[in-house]
Amino acid sequence: MRRACFCLTIIATITALPNAQTQEFDLLIKGGHVIDPKNGVNSVQDVAVAKGRIALVAANVARERARDVADATGFYVTPGLIDIHAHVFWGHDEESQYSDGYSAVQPDSHSFRAGQTTLVDVGGAGWRSFPKFKEQVIDRSRTRVLSFLNIVGSGMRGGPVEQNLADMDPRLTAMRVREHKELIVGIKVAHYNGPDWDPVTRAVEAGRETNVPVMVDFGGHTPPLALEDLLLKHLRPGDILTHAYAHVAGRIPIVDEQGKVRPYVLEARKRGVIFDAGHGGGSFLYRQAVPATKQGFYPDVISTDLHIGSMNSGMKDILNTMSKFLNLGMPLQDVIKANSSRAAEVIKRPDLGHLGVGAEADIAVLNVRKGKFGFIDIAGGKMIGDQKLECELTVKGGQVVWDLNGISRPLWTDLPSPGRGGDQ
Ligand SMILES: [Zn+2]
Repeated sequence: MRRACFCLTIIATITALPNAQTQEFDLLIKGGHVIDPKNGVNSVQDVAVAKGRIALVAANVARERARDVADATGFYVTPGLIDIHAHVFWGHDEESQYSDGYSAVQPDSHSFRAGQTTLVDVGGAGWRSFPKFKEQVIDRSRTRVLSFLNIVGSGMRGGPVEQNLADMDPRLTAMRVREHKELIVGIKVAHYNGPDWDPVTRAVEAGRETNVPVMVDFGGHTPPLALEDLLLKHLRPGDILTHAYAHVAGRIPIVDEQGKVRPYVLEARKRGVIFDAGHGGGSFLYRQAVPATKQGFYPDVISTDLHIGSMNSGMKDILNTMSKFLNLGMPLQDVIKANSSRAAEVIKRPDLGHLGVGAEADIAVLNVRKGKFGFIDIAGGKMIGDQKLECELTVKGGQVVWDLNGISRPLWTDLPSPGRGGDQ
C-alpha cells in the first residue's frame, strides 16, 4: 500500500513538474493599465496572484507562468474598491430599518458587480446588536464587511430608538470596539434631531478611547446646530462628515447662497476633517456638488450610502457615483484613490486598498466607457457626461468573484470534457 502510494506520488510529480515550475501564479491579469495610488503605479503592468495574495506587479509577465489569465487590455486594474458608507445589516425585524431590517441590503448582491471588495456598514449595529450583525451578515458574506458602530446601543432601528440619549453609552460602545478591533473601524452618529451635542461628544469620546474615527450624518436638529461648530470644535482630524454635498432640513450646506464653499469648510479640511460623498437617496445635489467641485472641493472618499432607497435611484452603485465625480472633472487617478488607498487610510486599515506584493489580492478591473450618459442626482436632475465606469472583473482574496464578459475564462470549446463547469 505504501509502495503504491509512493509510485503514484512520483508519477504525479513527474507529470506536474513542468507546470509546477512554470505555473507559479493562480491568476495573471494581463495588459491592463494599473492604477495603484499607494504604490505610485500608474502604467500598463501585469498583476500576478498566488495563494490569495498579490505576487508580482511587472511588465510583460509570461502567460505560461499562470494557471488562469485574464486579458485586461484596454481596461484599468485597480485595488478592490472600498465603500465606507453602506447599509448591509439586512434582516426581517419589521420594527427596524437599517438594523436587522428591510431597508438594508445583502452585501454580496451589490459589492462584486461594482468592483467592491470591502463594504463598511455605518451605524446599522450598535454595541448591543453587533453580535447579531456579525453572525447574520459579516460571517456569511464573501464581501469583507466592516462596521462603524452606532453610538446608539440598539443601532439604526429608526424612530424614537435613535433619539434615546440614555442608550448612547461611550464606555459600552468602546468595549465592543475593543472586542472586535478587526471588524469595527469607527463610530457613527446619525438621525438624532434633538438640540444637543451629546451624541457627537459621546461618539468622539468612544472614538478617542479606541483610536477609531467618528462619522457624522448631520442635520435635522431643532433648533439647528451649527455646521461650523461640528467641523471646527467637535470633530477631530480624521473624523468624517458624510453626505458632504447634501442640502437637507436642519443642516447648513457646505456651499453658501453665493455659490462659495464656506471658509470654515475649507478650514476644516485643512485641519484634517474628512469629507465623504455619502450619496444615498437624499444627499447628493448638483446644486452643491457642481459649485463645490468647480472650486476644487472634491470628496476625500466617494461612498454610496447603499440601501433600498438609493440602490435603484440616482445613486445606483459606487461606479455610477464615482462616474459623476469623473465627469465633474475629478481625475481618474484621484477617483480611484478616493475609494482605495484614501478610504483605507480613513478607516485605518493600511493593509487594504493597494496592490503591493504580499497584500490580500483584492482587485477590480474597470472599463471607462466613452459615450453619452446621464447621471441623476437626488432632486431628479440629470447631468450629461461622456465617461462611465463599468466593472469587468473583481477578485477577492485571489478568487474571481465577478467576471462580466468572461475575460478570465477560456472559450467553452477549449474546456476539457467534462468541463470544470460553473463559476468559481
Ligand atoms: Zn447612511
